[in-house]
Amino acid sequence: MTLTASVDLTIRDISRGAPGSTCSTQLLDAPWDVDARESGYGPGASMADAAPVTAPRQGEIPAEYREASAEELDRRIRAAKAELGERVVVLGHFYQRDEVVQHVDYVGDSFQLANAAKARTEAEAIIFCGVHFMAETADLLSAPEQAVILPNLAAGCSMADMADIDQVEEAWEQLMEVYGGEVDEDGIAEVIPVTYMNSSAALKGFCGRHGGIVCTSSNAATVLEWAFSRGRRVLFFPDQHLGRNTAKAMGIGLEQMPMWNPRQVLGGNSEQTLAEAKVILWNGFCSVHKRFTTAQIDRARAEHPGVRVIVHPECPMPVVDAADESGSTDHIRRAIEGAAEPTTFAIGTEINLVQRLAAEHPQHTIFCLDPVVCPCSTMYRIHPGYLAWALESLLRGEIINRITVTDDVAEPARLALERMLAAKPSSAAAARGADAAGR
Ligand code: SF4
Repeated sequence: MTLTASVDLTIRDISRGAPGSTCSTQLLDAPWDVDARESGYGPGASMADAAPVTAPRQGEIPAEYREASAEELDRRIRAAKAELGERVVVLGHFYQRDEVVQHVDYVGDSFQLANAAKARTEAEAIIFCGVHFMAETADLLSAPEQAVILPNLAAGCSMADMADIDQVEEAWEQLMEVYGGEVDEDGIAEVIPVTYMNSSAALKGFCGRHGGIVCTSSNAATVLEWAFSRGRRVLFFPDQHLGRNTAKAMGIGLEQMPMWNPRQVLGGNSEQTLAEAKVILWNGFCSVHKRFTTAQIDRARAEHPGVRVIVHPECPMPVVDAADESGSTDHIRRAIEGAAEPTTFAIGTEINLVQRLAAEHPQHTIFCLDPVVCPCSTMYRIHPGYLAWALESLLRGEIINRITVTDDVAEPARLALERMLAAKPSSAAAARGADAAGR
């Protein structure tokens, strides 16, 4: 990969020109400084989200990595990768900073990257430059002897953390009391659990154990159809927006989509509301995509007549409704690549991907709908210093920050993933193009 754009440089420019205009000027701090002083997600879009007390912390890494210049880290990463050769594969999510992406073997969304890991069976180690649930998925799909490494353990995901296994087990217990746990004579269950890929392996395992399934933002409509062929309703977690946007596009009314607040009895709903529900939406969200607004779209249309607005389905429903289209990171990338004529695109997704797309496609005008540079807090925690540390540790025969999913969780989690892979879009989903809009 070649260096195409730098959010680091953009943040510096904005900070110099208009102090306070970034989400937080602390973004410019080295992540190890943040790790040492903060227990939350750190600066960036998730700064205000409450992190669970059990969220992993990253211990201090050796000073040689903290103190090295960017040039020295680049040189050391290249040298370590060259020496390790086929023994290691480095994966980078679309939202990762370019200072890291330039060193990865594959860049993609979480599921594409997990599959890339699966395909590289000769690699002893998979270094996942993404966040915790992605490394868990790579561990689920890779061979048992392959070690999956997350360079900074503090790189979690605030959305995934909004539904933990204890809360979901408790919600399920309450729902079973309301609905009963029986299937009818046609084999139809009262409720099917569906978890977004952006969730812990424990939740994927929960779905596997309870007749449920995983979805991505690429296949959410297909997965909901799969679930409705087996159940009267769906419990969808953790992202309310992907659930609502997908179900609405399938013709389900908002009145049939109550929210489940895990801090309230019955999620804050009456038994009557739950009886009439088709999709019960967990009260989770992505703080990156929550930042996008219809006012930003109005401004883009006023300032750039003819602009094509594409947003991610993790954005709130009014934003998705006001956009020209919605789709996954991969859908956004392909839409831009497929535009034959120079086009102006306003994009509603994470800034690192938008800046990279803009640098890679100079024939188009591409900008982020949100004028404030506010990257994903946790993706941003992966710094080249951590990558250099992970690689050079491998050279020394040491595996640091290995992410493993225990067998009791892995088995049902794989079942839920296999159900997703086997689910096929119906002609209705294909006609809606709903699955073109996914992650
Ligand atoms: S962009 Fe949102 S969903 Fe993705 S890792 Fe960051 S907080 Fe989680």
